[in-house]
Amino acid sequence: MANPNSEPKRNPGYLRIATEEAFAPPEMIRLYRELLESPDVDPGFRSLMGFYIGSQAERPRFVFSRLQDLGELRLADMAARGIDRQVIGITAPGPSILPKDKALALAALANDQLAEACRKHPDKFTGMAACAPQAPKEAAKEIERAVTRLGMKAVIINSHIQGEYLDNPKFAPVLEAAEALGVPIYVHPNTPPRNMIGPMLEAGLDGAIFGFGVETGLHALRLITSGTLDRFPKLQIIIGHMGEALPFWLYRLDYMHQAGVRAARYEFMKPLKKSTVSRYLRENFYITNSGVAWEPAIQFTQSVIGVDRVLYAMDYPYQCPVEEVVALDAMDMPAEDKKKFFQTNAEKAFKL
Ligand code: MN
Repeated sequence: MANPNSEPKRNPGYLRIATEEAFAPPEMIRLYRELLESPDVDPGFRSLMGFYIGSQAERPRFVFSRLQDLGELRLADMAARGIDRQVIGITAPGPSILPKDKALALAALANDQLAEACRKHPDKFTGMAACAPQAPKEAAKEIERAVTRLGMKAVIINSHIQGEYLDNPKFAPVLEAAEALGVPIYVHPNTPPRNMIGPMLEAGLDGAIFGFGVETGLHALRLITSGTLDRFPKLQIIIGHMGEALPFWLYRLDYMHQAGVRAARYEFMKPLKKSTVSRYLRENFYITNSGVAWEPAIQFTQSVIGVDRVLYAMDYPYQCPVEEVVALDAMDMPAEDKKKFFQTNAEKAFKL
């Protein structure tokens, strides 16, 4: 373990680009407060945002204040942790949880705010575009505006869209826009939808501890097994949290996917152009280590997915202890690979 008193190295030989960092426009918090008051509110949303907006405990208060800051607080936290640049996206569940009209307005407002902060601090911040995928055509237009006029370098979608997934053909305009503009889609976790969350919520396992990974791993797999990435072959998807554990499943995913396809077991599961799940993970995905500052998992993922496909992320402000930066600096890894991890893979994935 890292010495808790140590500081990140200055001039380690690479920039530290943190690629899954969150913000929340104050206007979104107001909309969320309203939503929390409404009858029959989504249980995952209540669990997640009810906690971060309402709890008086120290960690949620820290997270709540930092989420809404795109200036001095954030820059000071970055400096203290040795982070050179943040790639910033709207926090979960973003606009996806809201009714269409409010979601569209919020996405535009969030993009304007984030773009303004990126203009003020061009050497510190990079933006990911928010969108309202529940209105796919309008979302595609907003993505185009955010990329071509506001300089956003990716799209962030906070996983399921009120229980629906991006492989649903209705979301094609969103995927088309990202592919045509050459920007990746960061599929960031959300709490599981109503029909999945029950036993997780009961056990306190619905959030970042477990439910996030299960739900988002499912989303990523659906994009592969549905053939969606055959329809959008140039599309690049980014997933965090060490690939939501998918690299560890890879052998069994390939084996059972092949077996299911050969037996024509499911209507949904047609043969794929690239045949195996693992080829899509290696060619259409980038994986970040957000929330997993753990060398064995990082080295394993580099070995099975590829050293050019694994990126650094912190998960600010939800998880940002300086000890994690110190531990990752100290990884036993060739200098060239460490630079790919911290810096150059992000420069390539986001075209910085
Ligand atoms: Mn995150």
